[in-house]
Amino acid sequence: MDPDEALDRALTRQLYRFACPEPHVLGELHLGVLEEGREQVEAHVRNCPRCQEELAALERFLRTRDQPDLRVLVAQWVPQLQVAEPAPAYAVRGTVQLASATYQAGEFTLSVSITEDPQNPSLRTVAGIVSGEAEPGGQARARLVGPTYHEEEAVDTVGQFAFDRVPAGRYTLEVELEDALVQVSPLEVA
Ligand SMILES: [Zn+2]
Repeated sequence: MDPDEALDRALTRQLYRFACPEPHVLGELHLGVLEEGREQVEAHVRNCPRCQEELAALERFLRTRDQPDLRVLVAQWVPQLQVAEPAPAYAVRGTVQLASATYQAGEFTLSVSITEDPQNPSLRTVAGIVSGEAEPGGQARARLVGPTYHEEEAVDTVGQFAFDRVPAGRYTLEVELEDALVQVSPLEVA
C-alpha cells in the first residue's frame, strides 16, 4: 500500500466511525433479519473498512450461512417470566446477580443471568440455560459476540453454558442446537 492510499484509508476510517451502525444492527444484517434501514446500512458497509472488519469477525463466529438447514430463531424477551435458574455450579455462591432475563424462540426457552465475575468485579459472568422439546445433544454450542469479546462454549447435556470475564457492552448471544440457532440480539451486559 503506498503512503497516499494508507492515509486515504485512515481518513475514511475516521470519517465513517461516527456513522457506524450499532454492533447488533450489523449482526442482524449478517443474519439477513435486518428490516429497518437495511439499505442504508448496506450502503454504509460498502464504504466503511471498520464495519467490513466487524462483519468479517461476525462471519468467523456466526457461521450460520454454512448450514442452510439451520433454522434461525430470533429470541423474544419474555417479561416477568423466570422458568429456569442456572444450576448452582454456574451461579457461584456469594456473587451479585445483576440481571436475569428469559427469552422465547420457537419451541425453545432461553434464560440468561449476568453476575459479577468472581475473579474481577469489573467483569461479568454470563450464564444461561436453554430448554425445549428435545434435550440438547452433546454438540450444542453457545457463542457470545461483542465488540472486543468473541467466545464459544459448549452447552452441557442439561442445556447450561457460561462465559467468564465478559466486559460490559452490547452482545449477540447465540445457542446453536441440532437444527436451530437461537439468537438474542442485543444482549446488554451492564
Ligand atoms: Zn462503519
